[in-house]
Amino acid sequence: MDILICYKSQRRPAARHLASVLAGYGYDVAFDYQDIPADGFNRHLEERIAAAKAVPVLWCGQSVSSQWVIEQARLAKDAGRLVPVLMERAELPLGFAGLNTHNLSDWDGSGRSALLDGFIEELARLTGKRPQMDYDKLKAYEDTWRDFGALQFSQFSYSAAAPGDTPFENTGADDGKSETAKPEGENDVFKVFDEMFGAGGKVGGAATAETADIHTVAEITLEEAFSGIEKDLEISRTRLCSACSGQGILGTGPNCSACSGTGKVTAKQGMFQLQKTCSNCQGSGKTVVNKCATCSGIGTSAPEIRHLRVKIPAGATTGTRIRLAGEGGATPARLLENGIVVSAQTGDLYIQVQLRSHPYFETRGADVYCNAIAKPSVLKKGGKLMVHDVSGAKIKLNIPKGVEEGKSMRLEGRGMPNLKGGGRGDLYVRLITQS
Ligand SMILES: [Zn+2]
Ligand SMILES: [Zn+2]
Repeated sequence: MDILICYKSQRRPAARHLASVLAGYGYDVAFDYQDIPADGFNRHLEERIAAAKAVPVLWCGQSVSSQWVIEQARLAKDAGRLVPVLMERAELPLGFAGLNTHNLSDWDGSGRSALLDGFIEELARLTGKRPQMDYDKLKAYEDTWRDFGALQFSQFSYSAAAPGDTPFENTGADDGKSETAKPEGENDVFKVFDEMFGAGGKVGGAATAETADIHTVAEITLEEAFSGIEKDLEISRTRLCSACSGQGILGTGPNCSACSGTGKVTAKQGMFQLQKTCSNCQGSGKTVVNKCATCSGIGTSAPEIRHLRVKIPAGATTGTRIRLAGEGGATPARLLENGIVVSAQTGDLYIQVQLRSHPYFETRGADVYCNAIAKPSVLKKGGKLMVHDVSGAKIKLNIPKGVEEGKSMRLEGRGMPNLKGGGRGDLYVRLITQS
């Protein structure tokens, strides 16, 4: 594999489009997570990133606060394979702001856009493979893609997905009556692409299960962890449409007349004969009785910025996870091809605590470790030494005579608060002499 694209799951359609274009340049591209088992994520992730020569990470308003994407970006960066891409205006996460990031927020999605030059150049450098653009195939793919209602790169999103996971965001300009330049069923344009490039299982493939949960990271200092703190967070999320509670299309009637209830129609696109999802019934095979007017049947609101204040308890440390039920994103109700209705869901918000490193203290669980400088004469003859704990409280240490340099003294109950069950860990003070 030459290239592995990492992204926030809501932006899978964008990742797939980019993968299609890069395959048109002759690269072997993967972007699906479906073969990664839910457990042991990290190990598989590392293996996958190690197997790729270049790892473009798509930064968008949501991925910049996704622990999952940030973790992949970090692994890719450590491996020297990271190619950061900006999909839309977003504040890059800590540690990534200073990197050379390819701004594709204005990219019109065309495979032959000059905006891609620097990006392709870096991919060529990392993969050691010169781009070999198949102009005719790329153009054919592009024509088909435009026929299906081409979008600017930054607009590819699941955030406004219609039932059946339409890959293109409905721009609102479409009145729903026109037969051309209209968002269509998920697979069509990509099926054409797969046939042209023989990409099969790599580009394309089954959709991964989407979840409405949102994961984010809150960084705190050791002092904040000691006392507990309220942190202000900002997340971008969609909510279920309040008018229809995410139903989008409210109730269905008799079989759709346009597709005789099959949900599919056959259409001709240039030289291609395509099976398309019936646009009259959006693939359900039933006549739509009542489409929600507020959300045009989409079932969710447009993404909104939500400000939250979250209470991080005393004793929280790296790995502590806080769940705010119902504060995540939303997935609208969907009607699957086999007629099963997936009900609308509101997800949870997960906040992963990340402890910033401290210049003086280190922690292991609730125990705290530090060094204290003592005069050689104090170690030899014994004496007193002032130290302080994480809270800043001063402690007078009685040093017995004849203590070896490098030995630690344990101060019981002067460490960090225990997250569960009260009490405090211990403080270990290692005695060193100034060199
Ligand atoms: Zn609605
Ligand atoms: Zn139909």
